[in-house]
Amino acid sequence: MSNETEKTQIQIVCRACGETEIYDINDQNKQAIKHNLCRKCKDRFGPLFENRPPTIHKPDLTGMIAINDCIKGRLYKIRARNFQLGVYDGQGGFIGRRNKFGQWYLFTEYHYDTGAPHGTAMPMEDTGIDLPEGIEAKENGNPKLAAFLIEHAT
Ligand SMILES: [Zn+2]
Repeated sequence: MSNETEKTQIQIVCRACGETEIYDINDQNKQAIKHNLCRKCKDRFGPLFENRPPTIHKPDLTGMIAINDCIKGRLYKIRARNFQLGVYDGQGGFIGRRNKFGQWYLFTEYHYDTGAPHGTAMPMEDTGIDLPEGIEAKENGNPKLAAFLIEHAT
């Protein structure tokens, strides 16, 4: 004969009020046990923990210019990780100047509408300024674009 019996009850210390509570271990009490809440506090706080969707970082999109309204070669004030001024490349990207380890270089960040994880740029203001003739909206080997961005940085 075994002395071991299956554990059917558990005592918790409520993290909200500090009272001890004994629960039968079953599906109905699973959430209260998991979150250390007594019966009284479970009714008050329990709904906060149940069926909670995973936390997703959702920025404030108010005022953002939609990708379909962005014009190729146009200069936008944007909210992005690495710069605040970028030229739309016509393919979902904004080319701006980025400084890393003391070096400046052109870098593309993608419109929020292109989706996670790369869509991090939010154009907030159309400056009405277009790239002049002779400067392409491309990132690589484009010192003229870098100079254009420097000229329009304030
Ligand atoms: Zn409690």
